[in-house]
Amino acid sequence: MSTHTVNATQAHDSMFDAVLARLDVAAKLMNLSDEVLQVLRNPSKQVKVSLPIMMDNGKIQVFEGYRTVHSTHLGPSKGGIRYAMDVNADEVMALAAWMSFKCAVANLPYGGAKGGIKCEPRNMSVGELERLSRAYAVSMKDVFGVNRDIPAPDMGTSGREMAWILDEFNKINGEDSPGVITGKPIAIGGSLGRDAATGRGVMVNTLAALKKMNLKANEVTAVVQGFGNVGSHAARLLSEKGVKIVGIGDHTASFYNEKGIDIAAAIDFAAKNNRVLKGFKGATEIKAEELLTSKCDVLVPAALQNVITEENAGKIQAKLIVEGANGPTTPEADPILNDKKIICVPDILANSGGVTVSYFEWVQNKAGYYWTEEEVNTKHDLKMEIAFEAVWNNATQFKTGMRIAAYITALQKIEQGVKLKGAY
Ligand code: GLU
Repeated sequence: MSTHTVNATQAHDSMFDAVLARLDVAAKLMNLSDEVLQVLRNPSKQVKVSLPIMMDNGKIQVFEGYRTVHSTHLGPSKGGIRYAMDVNADEVMALAAWMSFKCAVANLPYGGAKGGIKCEPRNMSVGELERLSRAYAVSMKDVFGVNRDIPAPDMGTSGREMAWILDEFNKINGEDSPGVITGKPIAIGGSLGRDAATGRGVMVNTLAALKKMNLKANEVTAVVQGFGNVGSHAARLLSEKGVKIVGIGDHTASFYNEKGIDIAAAIDFAAKNNRVLKGFKGATEIKAEELLTSKCDVLVPAALQNVITEENAGKIQAKLIVEGANGPTTPEADPILNDKKIICVPDILANSGGVTVSYFEWVQNKAGYYWTEEEVNTKHDLKMEIAFEAVWNNATQFKTGMRIAAYITALQKIEQGVKLKGAY
Protein backbone atom coordinates (compact mmCIF):
# COMPACT_ATOMS: atom_id res chain seq x y z
CA MET A 1 0.00 0.00 0.00
CA SER A 2 1.61 3.31 -0.93
CA THR A 3 0.89 6.19 1.35
CA HIS A 4 0.31 9.91 1.30
CA THR A 5 1.41 11.98 4.21
CA VAL A 6 2.07 15.58 5.00
CA ASN A 7 5.51 17.06 4.53
CA ALA A 8 7.55 15.57 7.35
CA THR A 9 10.00 18.44 7.55
CA GLN A 10 7.27 20.92 8.40
CA ALA A 11 6.61 21.13 12.15
CA HIS A 12 3.06 21.80 13.34
CA ASP A 13 3.04 23.83 16.54
CA SER A 14 -0.66 24.44 16.11
CA MET A 15 -3.00 21.49 16.49
CA PHE A 16 -5.44 23.04 14.03
CA ASP A 17 -2.60 23.37 11.50
CA ALA A 18 -2.00 19.63 11.98
CA VAL A 19 -5.67 19.01 11.09
CA LEU A 20 -5.44 21.28 8.05
CA ALA A 21 -2.27 19.50 6.88
CA ARG A 22 -4.10 16.17 6.75
CA LEU A 23 -7.26 17.76 5.36
CA ASP A 24 -5.29 19.28 2.47
CA VAL A 25 -3.60 15.96 1.62
CA ALA A 26 -6.95 14.12 1.60
CA ALA A 27 -8.66 16.91 -0.37
CA LYS A 28 -6.01 16.80 -3.09
CA LEU A 29 -6.06 13.04 -3.36
CA MET A 30 -9.84 12.79 -3.71
CA ASN A 31 -10.11 15.94 -5.82
CA LEU A 32 -12.33 17.79 -3.34
CA SER A 33 -13.63 21.07 -4.72
CA ASP A 34 -11.66 24.10 -3.57
CA GLU A 35 -14.84 25.79 -2.42
CA VAL A 36 -15.75 22.93 -0.10
CA LEU A 37 -12.18 22.84 1.17
CA GLN A 38 -12.34 26.55 2.00
CA VAL A 39 -15.59 26.04 3.93
CA LEU A 40 -14.03 23.24 5.98
CA ARG A 41 -10.74 25.04 6.61
CA ASN A 42 -12.72 27.67 8.55
CA PRO A 43 -14.75 26.69 11.63
CA SER A 44 -18.25 28.17 11.48
CA LYS A 45 -18.47 29.59 15.01
CA GLN A 46 -16.01 30.25 17.85
CA VAL A 47 -17.15 31.39 21.29
CA LYS A 48 -14.83 32.34 24.15
CA VAL A 49 -16.16 33.31 27.57
CA SER A 50 -14.77 34.36 30.95
CA LEU A 51 -16.23 32.50 33.90
CA PRO A 52 -15.72 34.20 37.30
CA ILE A 53 -16.17 31.52 39.97
CA MET A 54 -16.35 31.87 43.75
CA MET A 55 -13.74 29.42 45.01
CA ASP A 56 -14.00 27.64 48.36
CA ASN A 57 -11.47 30.05 49.86
CA GLY A 58 -13.90 32.94 49.31
CA LYS A 59 -11.90 34.44 46.42
CA ILE A 60 -13.09 34.85 42.83
CA GLN A 61 -11.06 33.07 40.14
CA VAL A 62 -11.68 33.72 36.43
CA PHE A 63 -11.66 30.72 34.06
CA GLU A 64 -11.56 30.68 30.23
CA GLY A 65 -14.36 28.72 28.53
CA TYR A 66 -14.59 27.81 24.86
CA ARG A 67 -17.00 26.29 22.35
CA THR A 68 -16.20 25.98 18.67
CA VAL A 69 -18.69 24.73 16.11
CA HIS A 70 -16.73 23.51 13.12
CA SER A 71 -19.56 22.46 10.79
CA THR A 72 -23.32 21.85 10.66
CA HIS A 73 -23.64 20.54 7.10
CA LEU A 74 -24.78 17.04 8.05
CA GLY A 75 -26.84 18.05 11.09
CA PRO A 76 -26.58 19.79 14.47
CA SER A 77 -23.05 20.01 15.81
CA LYS A 78 -21.86 17.38 18.27
CA GLY A 79 -18.83 17.05 20.49
CA GLY A 80 -17.51 16.89 24.02
CA ILE A 81 -16.42 19.38 26.65
CA ARG A 82 -12.98 18.96 28.20
CA TYR A 83 -11.62 20.32 31.46
CA ALA A 84 -7.83 20.54 31.20
CA MET A 85 -5.02 23.07 31.59
CA ASP A 86 -3.97 22.95 27.93
CA VAL A 87 -7.42 23.94 26.62
CA ASN A 88 -7.07 26.90 24.26
CA ALA A 89 -8.74 28.28 21.13
CA ASP A 90 -6.44 26.38 18.74
CA GLU A 91 -6.87 23.00 20.45
CA VAL A 92 -10.66 23.35 20.66
CA MET A 93 -10.79 24.29 16.97
CA ALA A 94 -8.79 21.16 16.03
CA LEU A 95 -10.93 18.92 18.19
CA ALA A 96 -14.11 20.45 16.73
CA ALA A 97 -12.94 19.74 13.18
CA TRP A 98 -12.12 16.16 14.14
CA MET A 99 -15.68 15.80 15.47
CA SER A 100 -17.06 16.84 12.05
CA PHE A 101 -14.95 14.16 10.37
CA LYS A 102 -15.60 11.56 13.08
CA CYS A 103 -19.39 11.94 12.88
CA ALA A 104 -19.27 11.74 9.08
CA VAL A 105 -17.07 8.60 9.14
CA ALA A 106 -19.49 6.94 11.57
CA ASN A 107 -22.51 7.91 9.43
CA LEU A 108 -24.10 10.07 12.11
CA PRO A 109 -26.43 12.96 11.16
CA TYR A 110 -24.21 15.52 12.88
CA GLY A 111 -21.71 18.25 12.28
CA GLY A 112 -18.82 18.76 14.67
CA ALA A 113 -18.07 20.91 17.71
CA LYS A 114 -15.91 20.90 20.82
CA GLY A 115 -15.79 22.88 24.03
CA GLY A 116 -13.56 23.19 27.01
CA ILE A 117 -12.59 25.05 30.13
CA LYS A 118 -8.97 25.78 31.00
CA CYS A 119 -8.74 24.36 34.51
CA GLU A 120 -7.16 21.54 36.51
CA PRO A 121 -10.21 19.55 37.72
CA ARG A 122 -8.04 17.32 39.94
CA ASN A 123 -7.20 20.35 42.07
CA MET A 124 -10.76 21.61 42.41
CA SER A 125 -13.45 20.70 44.93
CA VAL A 126 -16.77 19.19 43.81
CA GLY A 127 -18.50 22.46 44.73
CA GLU A 128 -16.09 24.52 42.63
CA LEU A 129 -16.51 22.16 39.66
CA GLU A 130 -20.29 22.37 39.97
CA ARG A 131 -20.29 26.18 40.00
CA LEU A 132 -17.87 26.23 37.03
CA SER A 133 -20.01 23.77 35.02
CA ARG A 134 -23.21 25.69 35.72
CA ALA A 135 -21.57 29.02 34.80
CA TYR A 136 -20.36 27.47 31.54
CA ALA A 137 -23.89 26.19 30.76
CA VAL A 138 -25.35 29.68 31.32
CA SER A 139 -22.71 31.27 29.09
CA MET A 140 -23.44 28.75 26.31
CA LYS A 141 -27.25 28.87 26.57
CA ASP A 142 -27.60 30.26 23.04
CA VAL A 143 -25.04 27.88 21.56
CA PHE A 144 -26.36 24.58 22.93
CA GLY A 145 -29.70 23.11 21.83
CA VAL A 146 -31.26 19.69 21.14
CA ASN A 147 -31.24 20.45 17.41
CA ARG A 148 -28.44 23.01 17.50
CA ASP A 149 -25.29 21.91 19.32
CA ILE A 150 -25.12 18.89 21.61
CA PRO A 151 -22.21 18.54 24.06
CA ALA A 152 -20.95 15.39 25.80
CA PRO A 153 -18.08 14.33 28.10
CA ASP A 154 -14.43 14.47 27.07
CA MET A 155 -11.14 14.57 29.00
CA GLY A 156 -11.71 15.63 32.62
CA THR A 157 -15.52 15.46 32.47
CA SER A 158 -18.09 12.69 32.99
CA GLY A 159 -21.79 12.14 33.59
CA ARG A 160 -21.59 14.26 36.74
CA GLU A 161 -20.73 17.45 34.82
CA MET A 162 -23.28 16.58 32.10
CA ALA A 163 -26.01 16.39 34.79
CA TRP A 164 -25.12 19.86 36.15
CA ILE A 165 -25.02 21.38 32.66
CA LEU A 166 -28.36 19.77 31.73
CA ASP A 167 -29.96 21.00 34.96
CA GLU A 168 -28.80 24.56 34.36
CA PHE A 169 -29.94 24.50 30.73
CA ASN A 170 -33.35 23.15 31.79
CA LYS A 171 -33.74 25.89 34.43
CA ILE A 172 -32.99 28.59 31.85
CA ASN A 173 -35.52 27.17 29.40
CA GLY A 174 -38.17 26.09 31.90
CA GLU A 175 -38.50 22.60 30.44
CA ASP A 176 -36.70 19.27 30.46
CA SER A 177 -34.60 18.71 27.32
CA PRO A 178 -32.49 15.63 28.06
CA GLY A 179 -31.36 15.47 24.41
CA VAL A 180 -29.41 18.72 24.72
CA ILE A 181 -26.46 16.83 26.17
CA THR A 182 -25.28 13.21 26.01
CA GLY A 183 -23.14 11.03 28.24
CA LYS A 184 -25.64 11.66 31.05
CA PRO A 185 -26.08 9.33 34.03
CA ILE A 186 -28.67 6.61 33.23
CA ALA A 187 -31.21 7.89 35.81
CA ILE A 188 -31.66 11.20 33.99
CA GLY A 189 -31.81 10.01 30.38
CA GLY A 190 -28.39 8.52 29.72
CA SER A 191 -28.01 5.45 27.51
CA LEU A 192 -26.97 2.03 28.62
CA GLY A 193 -23.61 1.23 27.03
CA ARG A 194 -22.52 4.89 26.67
CA ASP A 195 -19.91 4.71 29.41
CA ALA A 196 -18.00 1.86 27.76
CA ALA A 197 -18.77 2.92 24.18
CA THR A 198 -15.50 4.60 23.19
CA GLY A 199 -13.51 1.63 24.54
CA ARG A 200 -15.93 -0.72 22.81
CA GLY A 201 -15.38 1.06 19.50
CA VAL A 202 -11.61 0.68 19.98
CA MET A 203 -12.16 -3.05 20.53
CA VAL A 204 -14.37 -3.49 17.44
CA ASN A 205 -11.92 -1.54 15.27
CA THR A 206 -8.98 -3.56 16.61
CA LEU A 207 -10.70 -6.86 15.82
CA ALA A 208 -11.66 -5.63 12.33
CA ALA A 209 -8.06 -4.58 11.61
CA LEU A 210 -6.62 -7.85 12.99
CA LYS A 211 -8.94 -9.78 10.67
CA LYS A 212 -7.62 -7.85 7.65
CA MET A 213 -4.08 -8.59 8.85
CA ASN A 214 -4.90 -12.31 9.19
CA LEU A 215 -4.20 -12.25 12.91
CA LYS A 216 -6.33 -13.78 15.65
CA ALA A 217 -7.23 -11.90 18.83
CA ASN A 218 -6.01 -14.68 21.09
CA GLU A 219 -2.60 -14.72 19.39
CA VAL A 220 -1.70 -11.05 19.86
CA THR A 221 -0.49 -8.82 22.66
CA ALA A 222 -1.47 -5.20 23.30
CA VAL A 223 -0.28 -2.16 25.20
CA VAL A 224 -2.86 0.41 26.27
CA GLN A 225 -1.73 3.91 27.24
CA GLY A 226 -4.31 5.68 29.43
CA PHE A 227 -6.53 4.04 32.01
CA GLY A 228 -9.42 6.49 32.19
CA ASN A 229 -12.81 5.94 30.58
CA VAL A 230 -11.42 5.01 27.14
CA GLY A 231 -8.30 3.03 28.06
CA SER A 232 -9.74 0.96 30.90
CA HIS A 233 -12.81 -0.15 28.91
CA ALA A 234 -10.69 -0.79 25.79
CA ALA A 235 -8.23 -2.93 27.80
CA ARG A 236 -11.06 -4.84 29.48
CA LEU A 237 -13.00 -5.51 26.28
CA LEU A 238 -9.87 -6.50 24.33
CA SER A 239 -8.80 -8.89 27.09
CA GLU A 240 -12.33 -10.37 27.11
CA LYS A 241 -11.83 -11.09 23.39
CA GLY A 242 -8.61 -12.98 24.16
CA VAL A 243 -6.00 -10.27 23.51
CA LYS A 244 -3.15 -10.49 26.01
CA ILE A 245 -2.69 -7.01 27.52
CA VAL A 246 1.00 -6.76 28.37
CA GLY A 247 1.26 -3.05 29.14
CA ILE A 248 -0.93 -0.39 30.76
CA GLY A 249 -0.30 3.06 32.14
CA ASP A 250 -1.83 6.33 33.26
CA HIS A 251 -0.45 9.74 34.29
CA THR A 252 0.78 8.27 37.60
CA ALA A 253 2.54 5.04 36.53
CA SER A 254 3.17 2.57 33.67
CA PHE A 255 3.43 -1.22 33.86
CA TYR A 256 4.56 -4.15 31.72
CA ASN A 257 4.12 -7.90 32.16
CA GLU A 258 4.92 -10.19 29.22
CA LYS A 259 2.71 -12.90 30.74
CA GLY A 260 -0.29 -10.61 30.55
CA ILE A 261 -1.92 -8.25 33.03
CA ASP A 262 -5.14 -9.14 34.83
CA ILE A 263 -7.20 -6.16 33.62
CA ALA A 264 -10.15 -6.82 35.93
CA ALA A 265 -7.69 -6.66 38.86
CA ALA A 266 -6.18 -3.41 37.53
CA ILE A 267 -9.65 -1.84 37.17
CA ASP A 268 -10.53 -2.98 40.67
CA PHE A 269 -7.25 -1.57 41.99
CA ALA A 270 -7.77 1.83 40.32
CA ALA A 271 -11.38 2.03 41.57
CA LYS A 272 -10.13 1.73 45.16
CA ASN A 273 -7.02 3.89 44.58
CA ASN A 274 -8.41 7.31 43.67
CA ARG A 275 -8.85 6.06 40.05
CA VAL A 276 -5.08 5.83 39.41
CA LEU A 277 -2.69 2.93 38.79
CA LYS A 278 0.23 4.06 40.99
CA GLY A 279 0.98 1.20 43.39
CA PHE A 280 -0.53 -1.58 41.20
CA LYS A 281 1.27 -4.87 41.89
CA GLY A 282 0.19 -7.05 38.94
CA ALA A 283 3.13 -6.06 36.67
CA THR A 284 6.58 -4.46 36.71
CA GLU A 285 6.61 -0.67 36.84
CA ILE A 286 8.38 0.88 33.83
CA LYS A 287 9.16 4.45 32.79
CA ALA A 288 6.23 6.29 31.17
CA GLU A 289 8.24 6.88 27.96
CA GLU A 290 8.96 3.13 27.63
CA LEU A 291 5.31 2.13 27.43
CA LEU A 292 4.60 3.17 23.82
CA THR A 293 7.77 1.57 22.49
CA SER A 294 7.59 -1.67 24.48
CA LYS A 295 7.12 -5.02 22.76
CA CYS A 296 3.55 -5.68 21.60
CA ASP A 297 1.50 -6.33 18.45
CA VAL A 298 -1.20 -3.72 19.07
CA LEU A 299 -0.67 -0.28 20.55
CA VAL A 300 -3.67 1.69 21.83
CA PRO A 301 -2.80 5.29 22.74
CA ALA A 302 -5.88 6.27 24.77
CA ALA A 303 -4.64 9.19 26.85
CA LEU A 304 -3.34 12.45 25.44
CA GLN A 305 -2.71 14.09 22.08
CA ASN A 306 0.76 14.32 20.46
CA VAL A 307 2.32 11.31 22.21
CA ILE A 308 3.53 9.49 19.07
CA THR A 309 6.07 11.89 17.63
CA GLU A 310 9.02 11.89 15.25
CA GLU A 311 11.20 11.15 18.31
CA ASN A 312 9.58 7.86 19.32
CA ALA A 313 7.72 6.69 16.18
CA GLY A 314 10.82 4.91 14.85
CA LYS A 315 11.04 2.83 18.04
CA ILE A 316 7.45 1.60 18.06
CA GLN A 317 7.33 -2.20 17.84
CA ALA A 318 3.58 -2.68 17.32
CA LYS A 319 2.20 -3.76 13.91
CA LEU A 320 -1.11 -2.04 14.55
CA ILE A 321 -1.96 1.25 16.27
CA VAL A 322 -5.57 1.95 17.23
CA GLU A 323 -6.02 5.56 18.36
CA GLY A 324 -8.34 5.73 21.37
CA ALA A 325 -7.32 9.34 22.11
CA ASN A 326 -7.93 12.31 19.84
CA GLY A 327 -4.79 13.34 17.96
CA PRO A 328 -2.22 11.04 19.63
CA THR A 329 0.00 10.97 16.50
CA THR A 330 1.68 14.10 15.15
CA PRO A 331 1.72 14.67 11.37
CA GLU A 332 5.52 14.32 11.53
CA ALA A 333 5.21 10.79 12.96
CA ASP A 334 2.78 9.59 10.25
CA PRO A 335 5.41 9.01 7.50
CA ILE A 336 7.68 7.17 9.95
CA LEU A 337 4.86 4.78 10.88
CA ASN A 338 3.99 4.36 7.20
CA ASP A 339 7.60 3.53 6.30
CA LYS A 340 7.57 0.88 9.00
CA LYS A 341 4.32 -0.54 7.47
CA ILE A 342 2.50 -0.07 10.76
CA ILE A 343 -1.25 0.05 10.19
CA CYS A 344 -2.84 2.94 12.06
CA VAL A 345 -6.60 3.02 12.68
CA PRO A 346 -6.96 6.79 13.14
CA ASP A 347 -8.76 8.56 15.97
CA ILE A 348 -11.67 9.78 13.83
CA LEU A 349 -12.57 6.13 13.18
CA ALA A 350 -11.09 4.29 16.18
CA ASN A 351 -12.68 6.38 18.91
CA SER A 352 -15.99 7.12 17.17
CA GLY A 353 -17.82 4.54 19.31
CA GLY A 354 -18.38 7.19 21.98
CA VAL A 355 -20.17 9.67 19.77
CA THR A 356 -22.02 6.81 18.07
CA VAL A 357 -23.66 5.81 21.35
CA SER A 358 -24.13 9.53 22.15
CA TYR A 359 -26.21 9.60 18.97
CA PHE A 360 -28.21 6.60 20.22
CA GLU A 361 -28.72 8.41 23.54
CA TRP A 362 -30.03 11.49 21.69
CA VAL A 363 -32.37 9.33 19.58
CA GLN A 364 -33.70 7.65 22.73
CA ASN A 365 -34.19 11.03 24.43
CA LYS A 366 -36.12 12.35 21.43
CA ALA A 367 -38.30 9.24 21.33
CA GLY A 368 -38.65 9.03 25.13
CA TYR A 369 -38.13 5.28 24.73
CA TYR A 370 -35.08 3.47 26.05
CA TRP A 371 -33.19 0.49 24.63
CA THR A 372 -31.52 -2.46 26.35
CA GLU A 373 -27.72 -2.54 26.61
CA GLU A 374 -27.69 -5.42 24.17
CA GLU A 375 -29.63 -3.39 21.58
CA VAL A 376 -27.21 -0.48 22.01
CA ASN A 377 -24.12 -2.69 21.70
CA THR A 378 -25.43 -4.58 18.66
CA LYS A 379 -26.30 -1.35 16.83
CA HIS A 380 -22.95 0.16 17.84
CA ASP A 381 -20.88 -2.79 16.64
CA LEU A 382 -22.65 -2.81 13.28
CA LYS A 383 -22.08 0.92 12.75
CA MET A 384 -18.38 0.55 13.66
CA GLU A 385 -17.90 -2.39 11.29
CA ILE A 386 -19.54 -0.45 8.42
CA ALA A 387 -17.36 2.59 9.13
CA PHE A 388 -14.17 0.48 9.32
CA GLU A 389 -14.97 -1.24 6.03
CA ALA A 390 -15.65 2.08 4.26
CA VAL A 391 -12.31 3.50 5.42
CA TRP A 392 -10.43 0.29 4.58
CA ASN A 393 -11.95 0.30 1.07
CA ASN A 394 -10.98 3.94 0.55
CA ALA A 395 -7.43 3.15 1.69
CA THR A 396 -7.28 0.48 -1.02
CA GLN A 397 -9.01 2.57 -3.68
CA PHE A 398 -6.95 5.72 -3.11
CA LYS A 399 -3.75 3.75 -2.34
CA THR A 400 -3.24 5.56 0.93
CA GLY A 401 -3.00 4.90 4.67
CA MET A 402 -6.07 4.60 6.88
CA ARG A 403 -5.74 8.12 8.31
CA ILE A 404 -6.03 9.91 4.98
CA ALA A 405 -8.63 7.32 3.89
CA ALA A 406 -10.74 8.21 6.94
CA TYR A 407 -10.55 11.90 6.03
CA ILE A 408 -11.59 11.03 2.46
CA THR A 409 -14.52 8.94 3.75
CA ALA A 410 -15.66 11.90 5.86
CA LEU A 411 -15.12 14.46 3.12
CA GLN A 412 -17.12 12.45 0.58
CA LYS A 413 -20.15 12.85 2.86
CA ILE A 414 -19.58 16.39 4.09
CA GLU A 415 -19.00 17.57 0.51
CA GLN A 416 -22.54 16.48 -0.35
CA GLY A 417 -23.92 18.36 2.66
CA VAL A 418 -22.06 21.55 1.75
CA LYS A 419 -23.12 21.37 -1.92
CA LEU A 420 -26.75 20.41 -1.29
CA LYS A 421 -27.30 23.09 1.33
CA GLY A 422 -25.52 25.67 -0.85
CA ALA A 423 -24.31 29.13 0.18
CA TYR A 424 -25.68 32.71 0.34
N1 GLU B 1 -15.69 13.49 23.52
C1 GLU B 1 -15.97 12.33 22.73
C2 GLU B 1 -15.20 12.39 21.44
O1 GLU B 1 -14.20 13.04 21.31
C3 GLU B 1 -17.46 12.10 22.57
C4 GLU B 1 -18.21 13.18 21.87
C5 GLU B 1 -19.73 12.99 21.89
O2 GLU B 1 -20.19 11.98 22.38
O3 GLU B 1 -20.40 13.92 21.44
O4 GLU B 1 -15.54 11.71 20.50
